[in-house]
Amino acid sequence: MALPSLKNRDTKNKTRQTHLENVNQVWFRSSLNASEIKVRKQPAYNILKNPPIAIFLWLIAAIASASPFILYPFLSREKVSATPILTPPARSSSQSFPEVQASMLTMGNGEVLANAILRHMPDLEGVYAAVNTLGNHYNLRRIPVGQEVIITYQTNTDNQSKTLESVTITAPKTYQTTQVFRNPNNEFSIKQFDEYISQTNRTISGSIESSLYLSGLQSGAPANKLIEMFDLFAFSVDFQRDIHPGNRFDLVFEEYSNSNGEVIRAGNILAARLELNSGTFESFRYEYEPGEVDYFDRKGSSVQKALFLMPVQGGRLTSGYSARVNPVYGYSEFHPALDFAAPMGTPIMSAGNGIVIHRGWDPKGYGNYVKVQHSNGLMTLYAHMSSFAASAPVGAKVRQGQTIGYVGSTGMSTGPHVHYEVWVNGQRKNPATVVRTMSSGITLKGEQLEQFKEHVHAVEQYFNQSDSK
Ligand SMILES: [Zn+2]
Repeated sequence: MALPSLKNRDTKNKTRQTHLENVNQVWFRSSLNASEIKVRKQPAYNILKNPPIAIFLWLIAAIASASPFILYPFLSREKVSATPILTPPARSSSQSFPEVQASMLTMGNGEVLANAILRHMPDLEGVYAAVNTLGNHYNLRRIPVGQEVIITYQTNTDNQSKTLESVTITAPKTYQTTQVFRNPNNEFSIKQFDEYISQTNRTISGSIESSLYLSGLQSGAPANKLIEMFDLFAFSVDFQRDIHPGNRFDLVFEEYSNSNGEVIRAGNILAARLELNSGTFESFRYEYEPGEVDYFDRKGSSVQKALFLMPVQGGRLTSGYSARVNPVYGYSEFHPALDFAAPMGTPIMSAGNGIVIHRGWDPKGYGNYVKVQHSNGLMTLYAHMSSFAASAPVGAKVRQGQTIGYVGSTGMSTGPHVHYEVWVNGQRKNPATVVRTMSSGITLKGEQLEQFKEHVHAVEQYFNQSDSK
């Protein structure tokens, strides 16, 4: 009997895997889609390096492949079409268990799904009901030749007539599986989920040679994850000035593979770290309340800041902040703002959520300028614009990152740049100081903070564990 022995082994294995499971569970909690996706927890790579466990896992696989009961998730693409392939668990009424059968059909050239099913299972009513329901959610006209479709059906013990139970089809590119199944009301319901896939957590670590982006790509990080990583640190790191050759980065993210072991896509960034000359910057993904996910630094403060440090993308700091008038040279050093040079016409973003309270023209000073009022007594000012954004007139609600105008050189300006002021309760402050010290407001405390710290402890073990593959 394969099953009981498998059970015993499973129990044994549990104790060995306890720690790993904990790690995984924490991460699963942090995955927004976890409940919708059929995920099989795969042991992380470090457990595979442990010979007894690796041998053990191999044993499990060997037993599984010998047992038709456990084959379901391992359905191979090479299966011969229309052969009964499994006896899946029946729905609630367990008496029917032995009669439920499954077949895998392979669509022929120009074949219609309903006909393909009927060839194997002449339940006319059931097939049309199922295909109708399926057609509402799946483009049946786009089923490619060779597409596999799994059907399950019951055989009536009295007259050998057959009743269709379910039809399952997996889209070739997205790996999304759509299934229609007979519900307890004897009608067909639909559900969609990703194909049997496994999730692993992948770490990419490296040394920054020229740029974080290039070094990340060379180390095998997906481009879209690198861009997300930029966003995570955009509030606290000036990528132009703070990054130097030899600085290090770690990026931990989810990776989904299909049943053939092919990577389908990258999931969420779980953690990221930059080790720079100016310090270590970290960001951890955490679900602090059911359905509420944010990225936090190690202390439990959201890494999202109330304001951007730089209101233009790719800007270059050309003039820093000085709050005082130079007593000797008069006005020359007084510059209560940051100047970022950028090409003419570059969009200028609102540094935070707020309301446009002023749009004006000051020929001797600011030129075209915009003021945005934010919460907590914060106000930002952007000057020397070439033009304003039509979507952000006075009174408009703007969100962080929304374009409010375009880089220019109007007013007292010697070249295209944005002059960026931050006001706190009516006084101009150094934007860099304000941005770095003000979080968006979400700070974990008490019980939440304790749980977050455990989460960080589990996740940070993946730093510096780059698996080059
Ligand atoms: Zn300026």
